[in-house]
Amino acid sequence: MTKRRNRNGSPRVVVVGGGFAGLAAVKTLAKVKPPVRVTLLEQHNYHLFQPLLYQLATGLVQPADIAHPVRGIVRRYRRCSVRMGTVSGVDFDSREVLTDEGRRYAYDYLILAAGATTATFGIPGVEEHSYPLKSMPDALRLRAHLLRQFELAENDPAYVDQGALTVVVVGGGPTGVEMAGALHELFKHVLVHDFPDIDINRAKVVLLEATDHLLAPFHPSSRKHALEILKKRGVEVRLGQALERATPDEIRLKDGTVIPTKTLVWGAGVRANPLADVLGLEQTRGGRILVGDDLSVPGRPEVFVVGDLAGAGDGKGGLLPQVAQPAIQEARHAALNIERTLKGEPRTGFEYKDKGIMATIGRNAAVTELPSGARFKGVLAWYMWLALHLAYIIGFRSRIAVLVNWIWSYLTYDRHARIIVAVEPMRRAELTAPAPEAAPSGAAASERPVVS
Ligand SMILES: Cc1cc2nc3c(=O)[nH]c(=O)nc-3n(C[C@H](O)[C@H](O)[C@H](O)COP(=O)(O)OP(=O)(O)OC[C@H]3O[C@@H](n4cnc5c(N)ncnc54)[C@H](O)[C@@H]3O)c2cc1C
Repeated sequence: MTKRRNRNGSPRVVVVGGGFAGLAAVKTLAKVKPPVRVTLLEQHNYHLFQPLLYQLATGLVQPADIAHPVRGIVRRYRRCSVRMGTVSGVDFDSREVLTDEGRRYAYDYLILAAGATTATFGIPGVEEHSYPLKSMPDALRLRAHLLRQFELAENDPAYVDQGALTVVVVGGGPTGVEMAGALHELFKHVLVHDFPDIDINRAKVVLLEATDHLLAPFHPSSRKHALEILKKRGVEVRLGQALERATPDEIRLKDGTVIPTKTLVWGAGVRANPLADVLGLEQTRGGRILVGDDLSVPGRPEVFVVGDLAGAGDGKGGLLPQVAQPAIQEARHAALNIERTLKGEPRTGFEYKDKGIMATIGRNAAVTELPSGARFKGVLAWYMWLALHLAYIIGFRSRIAVLVNWIWSYLTYDRHARIIVAVEPMRRAELTAPAPEAAPSGAAASERPVVS
């Protein structure tokens, strides 16, 4: 493979996406020998810890507790820089990444780690009327909407009859189970005191799952435990019931049942980031980009795809799950394969090291399964869940902030972040700088048409 070098003589690696995978790639690339220059392209200026989004949506944590400025992470790595921009395509022949803002970034090696988005499976009304939980604005929008429903219901009790206080969560996977448990706690332990004129028994959380069990990746005993806990705590779990359509005021199930609700939380599926659909690369299930054993794209050894965007095999004929550990491990492996290539060594095939799975159901309740076959449930599993998630949050300050919030909430049942903030899309002018051609003389290197 011909290697083009930048001014400093080092090969250029562009990483697209500053999520779990993108950051793991940057951290590994910062240490490879011979050295490479790394440019991380990220559409936001922060890395988001998605596993705690449901806590943001239910008022337990604040945005800055689960989001960390990406520059603050990358600045400690020599030869690594960040550019904020939304990647819109890749010119594979000229080896340039293109952004919405009209910039081009030249690369010798490319690591695509743009993650996934929500899949609504074309169910009528879901796209328009549901609340997904994939991004920071999603969580803030849902939090504001939930709190607003209580405000409206207190002013007009008849609004409750129209489903104002009924939340339907679709999807019995870890996200749906976590969300249902957290919503129930928010209603019964916190909002009950904030809204004394509302009969809190009329606030209802319905968890809808199309199959006959919750937590698909887990052992049947863990599934049963999650179901029992949720039911015991008052969540209405409907198994084997699929959504047919949604409107702003109700949902209709395939069996004809109609549930009045203003809040449909969508936790039922993910698909690859839409960037995957415009690259012209071979895609597999869920729109994920097909990769070979070494995690590069067939026929393009200089292009790697990792994390939720990648369709990496699990060695048993399926694909690896779209969760954090495969994303991190794949990214490290791709970075090390770049190093091997630069050293003239053969690349190695990726092998996923399973570290187990866990899901929290709510206060004092979780399920954890280790690769050894050991299974934990209840308080012990909950402590394991708390410790692991705390360890993975980026930044000491954020870790302390989240820990303090958890302890405070555990002791007092309070959720201090129950604030209504309007979330609006940014205006175009706020997102774009002058086009490269119009940039004033002396503009920074990043504003030139091709960045090297
Ligand atoms: C609500 C929720 C709960 C979860 N809980 C867990 C859990 O408990 N445990 C677990 O292991 N996993 C969990 N996951 C899954 C886990 O978060 C993902 O598997 C993981 O984030 C994948 O990492 P990634 O780097 O591939 O993608 P992401 O972390 O999604 O990162 C992708 C990055 O790319 C950026 N990007 C996207 N498009 C562009 C573009 N065009 N240009 C520039 N940048 C772009 C995004 O802004 C983002 O920063 C959860 C996910 C969600 C949504």
